Amino acid sequence: MVVIRGATTIPCDTKEEIQKAVSELLEQIESRNALKRDEVVSLVFSSTCDIHSYYPAKAARETGFISCSLFSAQEPEIDGALPLCIRCMLFVEKNLAPSHVYLRGAKVLRKDLAGKFNVAIDGPAGSGKSTVAKRIAKDYNILYLDTGAMYRACALKVLEMGIDPTDEAAIVALMRDVKLDVVYENGIQKTMLDGKDVSEEIRQNPVSMASSSVSKHMSVRMHLVEKQREIAGKMSCVLDGRDIGTFVLPDADFKFYLTASPDVRAKRRFDELKAKGTEVDFGRLKEEIVHRDEQDMNRDFAPLKRAEDAVLIDTSDMTIDEVVAAIERSMQEKI
Ligand code: C5P
Repeated sequence: MVVIRGATTIPCDTKEEIQKAVSELLEQIESRNALKRDEVVSLVFSSTCDIHSYYPAKAARETGFISCSLFSAQEPEIDGALPLCIRCMLFVEKNLAPSHVYLRGAKVLRKDLAGKFNVAIDGPAGSGKSTVAKRIAKDYNILYLDTGAMYRACALKVLEMGIDPTDEAAIVALMRDVKLDVVYENGIQKTMLDGKDVSEEIRQNPVSMASSSVSKHMSVRMHLVEKQREIAGKMSCVLDGRDIGTFVLPDADFKFYLTASPDVRAKRRFDELKAKGTEVDFGRLKEEIVHRDEQDMNRDFAPLKRAEDAVLIDTSDMTIDEVVAAIERSMQEKI
């Protein structure tokens, strides 16, 4: 007995969509495994708890699976589960190396079967990029690359060395000597500068402003962009930044541009800093954020800009869960 697994997603919870998705999934499983109907002994479905309109097993029966035993069950509500997803297991009386089939949005469940993919999330400071990017990466079990952390690490070194952030030549020379690495510990990105973990230090406010100044320089950017492309070229990942969809990965499979009003963005940063015990003046923080955006948007090389093919999401009145759901739905539709 061999077990073949499959999964797919539906765009909305209707009987017609369930029938269509189940029939497509079973057809693909049959053709990829050269199966005959009478070789299928049993067919078991589960569907996520947001699916109520129809039994997938009934849809399978209607597509012609008459003689095997069929069963459907609903999964419990699991945090971060791929929404509107139908999974199946076929127990088959045949000697074969099974080819499992993941279609539509469910491709992301098995990146080994779906192939490599990259998600680009750009936007101004405080638009929610990093929180959302981390969630997407976790849901799809892929890497999250915070490109801002690289510019921040570079800025930290520039500040430590007392170098003028406008002095491009001095910064490039410094970067040649500095060892800047991004490593992962339990799936969490750590930014290392000359072997020292600076992940916390780079979040300080003066570093934010300096990173924007440092990141204006083309040669500094190219140095870091090369590292970013190298990582993204090797594995599936979610990258957040300012120029991912326009410059770093113009061919990214999925592109999003997040934005929010300056007030909302400043409030988010304010709360974030406060939670870490850093007291800042709200008005000043807002001014800095607006100034940083202007600088990022108006630099000559690879400025902050929405890629023409990026999905725009204004997160001002949205919760993180809502933004994540909007992005995942959009990804599923595209797949
Ligand atoms: O995203 P974060 O606020 O950590 O980024 C810090 C700064 O790094 C930004 O204000 C921007 O100037 C720069 N940056 C960039 N390109 C990226 C990511 C960040 O220029 N891809």
